[in-house]
Amino acid sequence: MNRNRLHHNQKNKSSNVRACPDCDLLQSIPLLLPNEFAYCLRCNATLLKNQKNSLNRSLSFAVTGLILFFIANLFPLITLKALSLTQNGTVLSTAWVLFEMDRPLLSLVMLFTTFIFPALTLLGTVYVLLQIKTNRINDYTAPLFRFLHHTHIWGMLEILMLAILVTVVKLGDLAEVIFGVSLYAFCLLILAMTLLDYYLNPHDIWNSIRQYNRESK
Ligand SMILES: [Zn+2]
Repeated sequence: MNRNRLHHNQKNKSSNVRACPDCDLLQSIPLLLPNEFAYCLRCNATLLKNQKNSLNRSLSFAVTGLILFFIANLFPLITLKALSLTQNGTVLSTAWVLFEMDRPLLSLVMLFTTFIFPALTLLGTVYVLLQIKTNRINDYTAPLFRFLHHTHIWGMLEILMLAILVTVVKLGDLAEVIFGVSLYAFCLLILAMTLLDYYLNPHDIWNSIRQYNRESK
C-alpha cells in the first residue's frame, strides 16, 4: 500500500497499531481498501492484507496443493537412461539412497525440507481453514496455526527443483533424461503453494480464533 499513507497514519493515535511479525516494529495501519496490503516500513514484511474471499481461495489452493503433493510423490521425478542402465527416483527413494550412501544428515534434511514440512503445511492449513469455514474452531486451532507458521518456512521445494535442473543440465550429454509426471506435478505444487501464501490471510484466521476464545469464556 501507499507508504505515505502509512507514515501519515502513524501520527494518528486512533489508528490500528500492529507489531511487525518479522522485526517487531510497531506501526499504525490505516483502514485498508479491498485488495490493499500494508507492508512493514523497516523490513517490508506483510503486516495486513484485505482480500476478498481469502478463505475460499486459500482453501482451494491448499486442497489443490495436497492433491499435487500426492501425485508428485507417487511417481518418479525423472528417469535417467544411459547405455543399458535405467535409473529413476521419487523424493522418498532419493532420501533413502542418500541414507544408504552414509549421508544420514543430508538424507534427513532432504526428507524434512521436501516431504515432511510441506506435507505438514498443506495438511495443517487445510485442517485449520476447514475448521474456520465450518465454525469448528477448538482449543488446538491456535497452537496448530502457530506451529504451521514456523514449519512452513522450512519447506524448500524450490531448492529441490533447482537441484533437479542442475542434474538435468549436467547429465544431459551423458544420459537420456525423461521427465516424469511427478516433475510437472512438482512445478504446479510450487505454484499452488506460492498462491496459497499469497491468498492466506493470517489476520482473518487470528480474528476467527480470537472470536472463538471470547465466546468460549
Ligand atoms: Zn518488519
